[in-house]
Amino acid sequence: MPWTATPDDDRRFMDLAIEQARTSWDEGGVPIGAVLVHEGRVLAAGHNQRFQQDSAILHGETDTIEKAGRLPAAVYRESVLYTTLSPCIMCAGTALLYEIPRIVVGENRSFEMSEALLAERGVQVDVLDDPACIALMERMLAERPALWSEDIGVDEGASTKGAR
Ligand SMILES: [Zn+2]
Repeated sequence: MPWTATPDDDRRFMDLAIEQARTSWDEGGVPIGAVLVHEGRVLAAGHNQRFQQDSAILHGETDTIEKAGRLPAAVYRESVLYTTLSPCIMCAGTALLYEIPRIVVGENRSFEMSEALLAERGVQVDVLDDPACIALMERMLAERPALWSEDIGVDEGASTKGAR
């Protein structure tokens, strides 16, 4: 029987992703964290590295997938990706490439760019609408708007593009 996450599992793994997001904020970075889980076991946890590593491509999700290292295709296909914010098109693309079947999203009020694409490709996206995740992004948009705009590749002032 393949492992299926219970709502309690989802809460626990999202809390780990939130912990990662808070660490990133404390480091001066973008407060988005993620966790990759296989068979109930955490393969890797990571967070956005734009500020910390001067990185253009290490978002919460891609940093986590990178940290998990080389994995057999079969492992990705049975994994769940938890992320505090709805994925951008790059992170969604990475998940699609490796056929990660389920993504649990902390919130999509601050930003949403890829959920239609993911659904169209058969990925199960579950949005928790978590107040802690929303609060992290509200503080980001209020206190570090330029860093956020940079992170999603938009001009400052247009940082809510894609949001609803
Ligand atoms: Zn991303």
